[in-house]
Amino acid sequence: GIPNNKGLDWKKAPCRFCGVGCGVLVGVENGKAVAVKGDPKSPVNKGLCCVKGYHSVISMYGKDRLTKPLVRKNGKLVETSMDEALTLIASKMQETIKEHGKDSVSIYGSGQWTIPDGYAASKLFKGCIGTNNVEANARLCMASAVTGFMTSFGIDEPMGCYDDIDHADVFILWGNNMAEMHPVLFSRMLDQRQKRDVKIIDFATRTTRTSMAADKSILFLPQSDLAVANAICYEIIANGWMNKSFVEEYCNFSKGLTDMGYGLEDKYSFNDKPEKINFDDFKAFLEDYTPEKVEKISGVSAKDIKYMARQYGDPNKKVMSLWCMGMNQHSRGTWINNLVYNIHLLTGKISEPGNSPFSLTGQPSACGTVREVGTLTHKLPHGVVNNKKHREFAAKIWDVPAENISPKPSYHTVEMFRALDRGDIRFMWIQVTNPMVTMPKLNRYRDGAKKEGRFIVVSDIYPTPTTDIADVILPSAMWVEREGMFGNSERRTQYFEQMVNPPGESMSDTWQLVEVAKKMGFEKQFYYKEETHVEEIYNEYRKHHDNKKHNLAPLQVLKDNPGMMWPYVDGKPTKWRFNAKYDPACDNGKAYHFYGKPDGKAVIWQRPYEPAAEVPDAEYPYWLNTGRVVEHWHTGSMTRRIPVLHKAMPYAYVELNPADAKRMQIKNGDNVKLTTRRGQIVLPASINERGVPAPMQVFVPFFDENKLINNITLDSFCPISKEPDYKKCAVKVEKA
Ligand code: SF4
Repeated sequence: GIPNNKGLDWKKAPCRFCGVGCGVLVGVENGKAVAVKGDPKSPVNKGLCCVKGYHSVISMYGKDRLTKPLVRKNGKLVETSMDEALTLIASKMQETIKEHGKDSVSIYGSGQWTIPDGYAASKLFKGCIGTNNVEANARLCMASAVTGFMTSFGIDEPMGCYDDIDHADVFILWGNNMAEMHPVLFSRMLDQRQKRDVKIIDFATRTTRTSMAADKSILFLPQSDLAVANAICYEIIANGWMNKSFVEEYCNFSKGLTDMGYGLEDKYSFNDKPEKINFDDFKAFLEDYTPEKVEKISGVSAKDIKYMARQYGDPNKKVMSLWCMGMNQHSRGTWINNLVYNIHLLTGKISEPGNSPFSLTGQPSACGTVREVGTLTHKLPHGVVNNKKHREFAAKIWDVPAENISPKPSYHTVEMFRALDRGDIRFMWIQVTNPMVTMPKLNRYRDGAKKEGRFIVVSDIYPTPTTDIADVILPSAMWVEREGMFGNSERRTQYFEQMVNPPGESMSDTWQLVEVAKKMGFEKQFYYKEETHVEEIYNEYRKHHDNKKHNLAPLQVLKDNPGMMWPYVDGKPTKWRFNAKYDPACDNGKAYHFYGKPDGKAVIWQRPYEPAAEVPDAEYPYWLNTGRVVEHWHTGSMTRRIPVLHKAMPYAYVELNPADAKRMQIKNGDNVKLTTRRGQIVLPASINERGVPAPMQVFVPFFDENKLINNITLDSFCPISKEPDYKKCAVKVEKA
């Protein structure tokens, strides 16, 4: 029924689902969260919410919620006490370390970890146990954005904020179906279009709801975004639109890191190291990317390429580029991130209101827990493991010997699952993510995880294909059943209090990690008291960022505000980075200071076009693209428990281009067989206006655990970011 609005106790929280991080008000009645509405005081969403946000509380009360710890005995999962389950996990880890070494144990979390969850995981594994086997599923969604930032700016920090939307004249969406993936931000753009003369350009490989709402939709052939971005740079220079003084003052040119592999084998290396070049070298390189030449590679007319270049080049227009998975899940993900930065650097349209290359995150805390806390193998809460000073700094705060922290990054996500398959990893703890739905070429990694001698712990709220392979399942408290913080795409950290009790014996992931750490003998490092552990962890975590460039807001400030952006300096958030007008960390006396680089200059990279890892051929003539839908959150483990969303989108399908469907005599709803070199899957055809792939391309959403499209995807990845390319492989399409 509809809750009585009047009697509810409304409390603020960030939304549980996507990286937009809308501020919501959760209505609580008789100890149960019963309603959600957008928080009008939130600067993120200004009172708006999307269909997932409005229904989010229902996802807490599915009938099959996990409420008791389970342990596998003689092949069957049986109930056990929380204490016994935690003791088993601690002893199994100790046993595995003794027998196979500390790098045989690992933890795999996610951008849905709260900040304290990720911090506790990092401290336990990297600081106390001494292994860098810490990864998060953000490797599968934003690692290329991280390495894009690192290579272009020497630092992994988004520079703009959502206020850019209120200032930009043109929005160029690079492979980004924002209408479905970041719906509230997209609404903010549409709202601007009602008020001002702004243009939305959708640059993508398929026609989506975003394309339909855009002022202009431009389709490109998969992977050719690399060539188009270079052609835009060519046009900017050829037409004299380059901001010469900005480029001379604040940019270097480089080439290198052009490994020719695609991560398909276990071994790969770079062919060349980064090397400085000059402007003339860069200009000569771009001669291969005239709009006319790129038209042949990309299928985009030279006229449209020139049109896009003109938007960037027009000195009277402020331009925002936005992207997410289309650019990040790319076998050259780092390069395409670099290339969009090249465009903004060449025109000087960067780091000021409305001029903003903006990399969006997918998950509620991908930026907070993964970027800031450093829950990727090479990272520390503020720094990297291969830097001695960073290790010593972290070790001091963690109260462990500096030698405990290994100087070598360990396995990234795909390699971590390959190591599990090989037997180099024997123990894996998976928290708040569902890799047995999301790993590419899934059959290989599922078989590996199920091998004899592997021990898998899964903390989650519902049964999933990942809990199916678990030896121990811990029931987790979700979202407002516990206290925590998420960090959204614009560097905004948002606190939420515990509003209701979790069901049964469910406890937060932080609590589970702290208790296991204590059982392993790390009581000194995990000194936190049960009732105040979130506050104590956050205060400790702030010490890692305690310098004038990188302060985080005190907890009380987070509690009193609808989130706070970092860096938080002198009691104020920093909205735009690297611009002395807005960022107090710019301290070299110049208007811009890219302080992640030793000379304060950003890098314009020479990045060629290269074909994808697997391209269509006579046997597998179509491109297969995968992604999300607005109704479901990731693998659907929560949103499929929301009846109205499940009804709206009950199962996965394959989107076909109408001309292809007609040629194969496939009608809407007919079963279609997709075959790749990895296997087969049968799905109903979707031939309608919701999403229309270009000819010879198909699209399948990945949320449906009964139709696992990742069984047939390819596990190639960007050799720099190690992020898999879920958007491109070759597939045969037939009427089933
Ligand atoms: Fe939640 Fe994202 Fe929807 Fe906002 S746009 S309500 S954060 S799912």
